[in-house]
Amino acid sequence: MIRLKDPTFTEIQSRWFSPLQMLELDACTRCQECVAACPVVRAGFPDGAMERIAGWGGTGVHATGLIARLLGKPASGPDLTAVFDSLLRCTTCGKCSVVCESGISTTELWESMRGAGRELGFRNAAVEKTIDAIAQQKNPYSAVPETRATWIPENVPIASSAPVGFFAGCTVAFRQPELGRAALRILARSNTRFCMLGNESCCGSFLFRTGSWREYSATILSMIQDFEERGVKTVLFPCAGCLKTATIDWPRVYGRPLPFRTMPFSVFLRDLIREKKIRFGTPVPRRVAYHDPCHGGRHLVHPLGKDWVFEAPRDVLSAIPGVELVEFPDNRESGICCGAGGGVKIGVPDLASIIAHEKIESVHQMKADILASTCPFCRRNLGEAGVTAGSNVEVLDVIELVDRMME
Ligand code: SF4
Ligand code: SF4
Repeated sequence: MIRLKDPTFTEIQSRWFSPLQMLELDACTRCQECVAACPVVRAGFPDGAMERIAGWGGTGVHATGLIARLLGKPASGPDLTAVFDSLLRCTTCGKCSVVCESGISTTELWESMRGAGRELGFRNAAVEKTIDAIAQQKNPYSAVPETRATWIPENVPIASSAPVGFFAGCTVAFRQPELGRAALRILARSNTRFCMLGNESCCGSFLFRTGSWREYSATILSMIQDFEERGVKTVLFPCAGCLKTATIDWPRVYGRPLPFRTMPFSVFLRDLIREKKIRFGTPVPRRVAYHDPCHGGRHLVHPLGKDWVFEAPRDVLSAIPGVELVEFPDNRESGICCGAGGGVKIGVPDLASIIAHEKIESVHQMKADILASTCPFCRRNLGEAGVTAGSNVEVLDVIELVDRMME
C-alpha cells in the first residue's frame, strides 16, 4: 500500500499536470457516460474514468480542502493504490474523452497520472521491464538491436535521402516482418523513391503512454534530426502507435513543429490508387470488417482530420475489387479498442485478451471473412484472440491485403 506525504504529492502533481488538467480534475459532473463507454468496465473491471478522477481529485481535497484547513493536514497522505491499479488496466483508448460531457481530455490525464504515479513509487514489474528494454535495447521486446533491420529484403531500393521517409516501428521490425515487407513491396512496385533512418529506434510510444518518456528525449531528437538531414518532407507510418507518438508526442520533445509531416500509410496508399500507380488483379469476393485503431483514429482526429484517419483506410479497402466493407456497430470515433494499448498487453495480458475476444465475436456476428486494421499491435492482439477462439476470420493489415491483391 502506498501512503503519500502531502507536500511531496503536491509538488509531483504540479510537475506532471498542466493548469488545465488541474481544472479538469475538478470538472467531472459524475454523469457516468464514460463508465458506460469504457471497454474495461464492460470486461468486468471497476475502472471507469469517473471513479479514477474522483479518486485522484479527492486527494487534492484531502491535502488542501476545507476539512484540511479546519483540522490541519493529516500526518500522511491518501492511499492511491486503487487509482494506480485502475490506471494500469486502462488501454488509453480515449473512448471516455469522446463521450465526456465536460470535455475532459482523459487520455492525457491518464498519462500524467501515470507519470506522477511512477515518481511516487507505484511501479508494475512488467511495465518497468519494458521501460528498461526500450532504454537499453531501443525496443520494447528486448530484442538484440543489431537485428532490427534483418526483415528488410535486399532487393528493395532504399535511397539514402528522399522526400518520402518510412518509419517501420518495433512491432513490424521484430514481430510482424511480413507486414513491413508488404509495405516495402508496394513502395518499390509503385516506383516510390523513399528512405529510412540509418538507426531507427523505438518511437517511445510505450514510454509516453506510461508516463516515463523524459529520459528518452535524446533518442527521439536524433531520429527527427536524421529524417531532416535526409531531406524528408513526409514520413509514412504503417503503425498507428508510432504515428500517434510522432504526430503528438515528438513535437513536445522537439519544442516546435516537426520539420516533416507525419502520414498514415493508408493515406499514401489511397493516393497511389487514385494516381493509378497501384493496379489490382482478379476480384476475390471477401467481406472485410475494418477495425479503427484508437491511436491512429480517435486520437488523431484533431491534428490529421477525419478523412485521413477514418476514411482513407476504408477508401483503400473499398477500392480492392471483390471487397465488401462492413462496419462494426461502434466505429470511427466510437470504435472499441483491441484491448492491447496503453501498456495493457504487457501489464495485464488477460484483460487485453478478453477485449480482443469480444471483438472477434463481433466479427463473427458481422459474418466477415477478414478483420483488417492499420496497426500491427492491434493485428497482433486480435490475431492471437482469433487463434485461441478457433476462429476462421483472417486478421490482416490493410497494407497486406493491398499487397496480396495487386496485379
Ligand atoms: S481510456 Fe478507454 S479504457 Fe481508459 S478509462 Fe477511458 S474508456 Fe476506459
Ligand atoms: S463522462 Fe466526463 S463528466 Fe461524465 S462522469 Fe465521466 S469524466 Fe465525469
